[in-house]
Amino acid sequence: MDFTLSSRAEEYRSRVRTFVDAEIIPLEASRSSYDSHGNIAEPVLESLRNKARAAGLWAPQMPESRGGLGLSVAERAAFYEEANRSIFGPVALNCAAPDDGNMTALEMVGTDAQKTKWLQPIVNGEVRSAFAMTEPHPGAGSDPSMMLTTAERKGDTWVVNGRKWFITGAEGAAHFIVIAKTSEDRRKGLTAFLFHRDQPGWRVLRRIPIMGPEEHGGHCEIEFDGLEIPDENRLLEVGDGLKVTQIRLGTARLTHCMRWLGLAKRAMEIAGAYVREREGFGIRLAERESVQIQLGAVAKEIQIGRLLVMHAAWKLDQGDFARKEVSMAKVHVADTLHRAVDTAIQLCGARGYSGDTVLEWMYRYARQARLVDGASEVHMMVLARFYMQEGTDFWRWGV
Ligand SMILES: Cc1cc2nc3c(=O)[nH]c(=O)nc-3n(C[C@H](O)[C@H](O)[C@H](O)COP(=O)(O)OP(=O)(O)OC[C@H]3O[C@@H](n4cnc5c(N)ncnc54)[C@H](O)[C@@H]3O)c2cc1C
Repeated sequence: MDFTLSSRAEEYRSRVRTFVDAEIIPLEASRSSYDSHGNIAEPVLESLRNKARAAGLWAPQMPESRGGLGLSVAERAAFYEEANRSIFGPVALNCAAPDDGNMTALEMVGTDAQKTKWLQPIVNGEVRSAFAMTEPHPGAGSDPSMMLTTAERKGDTWVVNGRKWFITGAEGAAHFIVIAKTSEDRRKGLTAFLFHRDQPGWRVLRRIPIMGPEEHGGHCEIEFDGLEIPDENRLLEVGDGLKVTQIRLGTARLTHCMRWLGLAKRAMEIAGAYVREREGFGIRLAERESVQIQLGAVAKEIQIGRLLVMHAAWKLDQGDFARKEVSMAKVHVADTLHRAVDTAIQLCGARGYSGDTVLEWMYRYARQARLVDGASEVHMMVLARFYMQEGTDFWRWGV
């Protein structure tokens, strides 16, 4: 087994590290870099995005023909990890959720005409996008078969009615993917459609207040009241909504993990710098075995996460859905992010709890990791189902 990065991936990794160090991390310390929702302020972001484009570090997940870097999923792992050494990194390099997952899905399932109209402006950074699936009770959450939003066919048009919530970026997005029910069939009852912000028949009901910093455009509750979507804006076939969702979430869950590992490593960097310098009871904190055990434990969890991510990325690059591998990575890395940030705050003492470092930002952000793109318990259920079907073959080697 070869764990080395390709020279291209290593070159990008090192350039991202330099860019994040020089251009992005210094912005984190200034309050003027933040908008009122705790994310990077739009004017600061615009200037940073121009620098990222000029540095050739833009849209790593997209083919070169589309203005991206054409990195494989495995190559992205190294890039995204470095990007999220800063809390502002991924959005500056156009590899943040939800655009990242939406771009990857559209590239995989869109027709050429759909890609030109709906995907290219997101790649260019001209518009933002959103993915609308989750619904308030009693609609679809963990269980997509509970979907209540309907799309009814009237000639060449679909008419959408229903309600969604926690739709990331909905207040600022122009291009939306919506999943709606088109029949009662349990497996083939959902269909995916594209719509534009300016179409009538839908509205943002509210921007839902959350405990963490927000992506641009917030997390919104939205209502569809007769939104008309031409059939040409349907993705794949009628009944392929779950397939589109699986294709999107497979990679999107894993790129979340890649970014979260970058955050977890940064938390260790901050804690490491503190304990190396800070003294108490006659010795530096870094010399205390109990402190070393905490740092060592987090370092180990991060490395386990990186191996799980690389394995899943490699399988996705082979054309496999990697459902098992992605679920394992998602559960493990979400927990690791929590543990890393919590440990770092503890080791930094009162400073860790303050706004003087980005640890408190990460701590508030980290809580969503165990919920978004599938709650950890649901991924465990998926893993248990695989185990019950496969028995000891669950751990088989590919030969
Ligand atoms: C910050 C944030 C951003 C989001 N962005 C988007 C977005 O852009 N688009 C979108 O469509 N959705 C989005 N979501 C929604 C997210 O995907 C859902 O929250 C998630 O799928 C869980 O659905 P639910 O909230 O309805 O939880 P429910 O289905 O109500 O489940 C509640 C809890 O019950 C437990 N549970 C559920 N099923 C099982 C099971 N089978 N076994 C054991 N325990 C179980 C879990 O602990 C779970 O957390 C976002 C959520 C958050 C928090």
